[in-house]
Amino acid sequence: MTKKFDLSSQPAASALQTLIPSKVVLPGDERYDAARRVWNRAADHHPAMITYCETTQDVQAALYAARDRGLPISVRGAGYDGEGRSVRDKGLVVDVSRMNQVEVSGGIATVAGGATAGAVISAAAASDHLAVTGWMGVIGMAGLTLSGGYGPLIASHGLALDSLVGAELILADGEHVIADPQENPDLLWALRGGGGNFGVVTAMKFRLHPNRAVLAGMILFPWSDAARVLRDYAEIAASAGDDLTVLAGMFCLPDGSKTLFLAPAWTGDAALGESLMASLQSLGTPFHVHIDTVSYQDLIRSFDHRVVDGRGYAVKNRWLPEMTQGAISAIIEASDSLSSPFTTIILHHFRGAATRVPDADTAFGLRREHFLVEIIAAWDPAAGDNGSRHRSWARNLSTALAPFALPGGYPSLLGLDDIEQIGQAYGASLQRLQAVKRRFDHRGLFSAAHLPT
Ligand SMILES: Cc1cc2nc3c(=O)[nH]c(=O)nc-3n(C[C@H](O)[C@H](O)[C@H](O)COP(=O)(O)OP(=O)(O)OC[C@H]3O[C@@H](n4cnc5c(N)ncnc54)[C@H](O)[C@@H]3O)c2cc1C
Repeated sequence: MTKKFDLSSQPAASALQTLIPSKVVLPGDERYDAARRVWNRAADHHPAMITYCETTQDVQAALYAARDRGLPISVRGAGYDGEGRSVRDKGLVVDVSRMNQVEVSGGIATVAGGATAGAVISAAAASDHLAVTGWMGVIGMAGLTLSGGYGPLIASHGLALDSLVGAELILADGEHVIADPQENPDLLWALRGGGGNFGVVTAMKFRLHPNRAVLAGMILFPWSDAARVLRDYAEIAASAGDDLTVLAGMFCLPDGSKTLFLAPAWTGDAALGESLMASLQSLGTPFHVHIDTVSYQDLIRSFDHRVVDGRGYAVKNRWLPEMTQGAISAIIEASDSLSSPFTTIILHHFRGAATRVPDADTAFGLRREHFLVEIIAAWDPAAGDNGSRHRSWARNLSTALAPFALPGGYPSLLGLDDIEQIGQAYGASLQRLQAVKRRFDHRGLFSAAHLPT
């Protein structure tokens, strides 16, 4: 089913003002600087126009204005793209964050294009369900799903995109299209990991899962334990089956010292869970352990508290097939020469159900077991820091990990410098994705997203 919204008879600017009164922010407007800001303050982009869309008609009007003015388009959900690509320099920003309704019926969540993962989790919990998300609720559900969605349920239920069963989009020319197994199945395939490249997603449908409590928390080890813990933690996860996911990594404590953390999340039998938590602790001599049975909602909230908006960030990543001695040494050496105490390294373990989805079912490029190493250099731009030494630090660690890594990486956390890695990330899916792109965005107007054309 497609539906045209014909604005061709109306003068563009007035059509936009009529349809979206007071929802348009232009340079010079007192709201402009706040409106162009995203999580990453190093993304200092100056769009030509920002439109706050509340309905699909607003989206259509915004797209019409972009066409009329010859502006490239970017779509902003919650603004947590690593590079701030959702605020397109000199382009038109379709901000969908006010389109945030979530409805649950019959085990399916219908999620508006700007709803956060946290809103989806809350709505699912209210009907005694779990939604598959990333580790943070502040992230946009559409942005997360379009790129992947590594989260605490990855081993039991796969990536967030593996629960996507349908979507609605507005294409660059205002056309409304459905993507589901019956209508435009290729577009549904492409949305499952192919990036935000085809149109504005105004709604998505997700399969929900039975609710479960989670045994979860944080184990902090002294940095001297890092090599051993990184070498052995994955074996405990592998022996535990699909109910355990363990996030690992490095951050600095308030006194500046580094810690190696494990953040386990277990959804299985309580007694077995306790023994797995004890095994993880026995990998070293932790100085802080907080493990508790919590709701999935509370687990995700505890990670939201760790997100800091407004710093400068340089984000890179690598996909490691296994935790080899060489990769562990590269992570430890880089951590020993940190350029900033705000910098973190996070390791996601992709395993279990996520590896059992056939390669060709979704556009996501890597279905074998792997570790996603997120390198997140962070600094305080208010202190007059231009970020160059932190960018170098992140680039150096990415280069040091390259000999141990698989080709590619997680596209939404790669940038312009990593264009080769982004192409490799899609592997055998790249040509099919580019064909879908030519069909649904043949003029390439959604060019701010990460898919190489
Ligand atoms: C602090 C932080 C934590 C993160 N944690 C995780 C995690 O645990 N697991 C994980 O897998 N990833 C994680 N990510 C990566 C994150 O999932 C992606 O960066 C995601 O694209 C962000 O979506 P957003 O809506 O918040 O960001 P935005 O910057 O608003 O959007 C990012 C891109 O998504 C596309 N997009 C968003 N909404 C739409 C829409 N409605 N229609 C069409 N295109 C759209 C656009 O191409 C846009 O450029 C994290 C990122 C950050 C910065």
